[in-house]
Amino acid sequence: MANKKVSRQDIAGLLEQWSQQFSVFVPSKESGVAAMTEWDGQDTSFLDWYRNTVVPSKASFLPPMEEMFHFQKGEEGYNIEPPPKTERGQLLFGIRPCDARAMAILDMTFEQALEDPYYLAKRNNAVLVGLGCTNPYESCFCTSMGTSPTESADVDLMLIDICGEFLIEEVTDKGKELIAKTNGLKEAAKDDEAKAKQSKKTAYDRVTRKLDTEGIKDRLLASFDDEGFWEKTAAKCISCGICTLLCPTCFCFDINDEMVKKEGTRFRSWDSCGFPLYSKMPMENPRQEKWRRVRQKVCHKYEFYPMTFDVIACTGCGRCIRLCPVNWDITRVIESVPTKTGVKK
Ligand code: SF4
Ligand code: SF4
Repeated sequence: MANKKVSRQDIAGLLEQWSQQFSVFVPSKESGVAAMTEWDGQDTSFLDWYRNTVVPSKASFLPPMEEMFHFQKGEEGYNIEPPPKTERGQLLFGIRPCDARAMAILDMTFEQALEDPYYLAKRNNAVLVGLGCTNPYESCFCTSMGTSPTESADVDLMLIDICGEFLIEEVTDKGKELIAKTNGLKEAAKDDEAKAKQSKKTAYDRVTRKLDTEGIKDRLLASFDDEGFWEKTAAKCISCGICTLLCPTCFCFDINDEMVKKEGTRFRSWDSCGFPLYSKMPMENPRQEKWRRVRQKVCHKYEFYPMTFDVIACTGCGRCIRLCPVNWDITRVIESVPTKTGVKK
């Protein structure tokens, strides 16, 4: 069956149809920072300015701040009230392949390692509509991390820019069902498929930053106790936490209660292993020194995740490079991890 296509001026109509069934989220600068926000029913100007969001799409399923439940202390203990359930699923329009890959990686933690009901309630109800990336940042290195600017493996539908129109690739059953219920789409011609192929190649070639991850798990394992290496690696980091809070695969959170008299709310909120207090326990802090925290961040992605799930928990989205205030660069760090023989690459 031939793919469908939609013209650029018909995107608003497409979103309008989908918003009958889903809460539709699109890239927006509504708050001054590019993030996925609920579509206002009109604006599709993101098609002109959007490269990627600053706030990654994990925020749709693991929000920066989330109410877990409300509680009241009664005569016989606590009464717990869960937050009201949202029946409508979210449709994320325009998610980039690197961030969709990150969602697949987060699923390994929140679905396979444990079942997180807050995350899964939102995630299982969601549709991811990818938008191929035509203008990657200099900091992007997705093609070294098993994905690409137009990879469709982790979305339900994938849109590829073919000059004024978008070819729609139907990836999952969920995506196919949605397209079957969508009106006004045109059949793509052979010529459109050829344009999409060229568009993919052009996008791929625009990702010029490369990272060789060959043997990285073993190199990190062997270098774990190399204090000198980690001190040097961590030297310029100011522990602001931006690289972890805005990393699409980082998922650390903290839990707090806000209570007035006998009632209150339990929240969870993003946290960072880069913060000095993150690992503080009553008797000690095993990651008091900054180099230990930086080591944790790097090894979690490139050593511990591969050991647990056989996948590197970095998608090459480049946020941690372009948003770091001191130009700490994870690709330079990975390249500098000593080899088994002690010779640095
Ligand atoms: S963004 Fe840069 S300075 Fe901030 S914690 Fe990460 S590496 Fe350190
Ligand atoms: S480590 Fe950096 S490049 Fe990799 S996924 Fe996280 S923010 Fe993106």
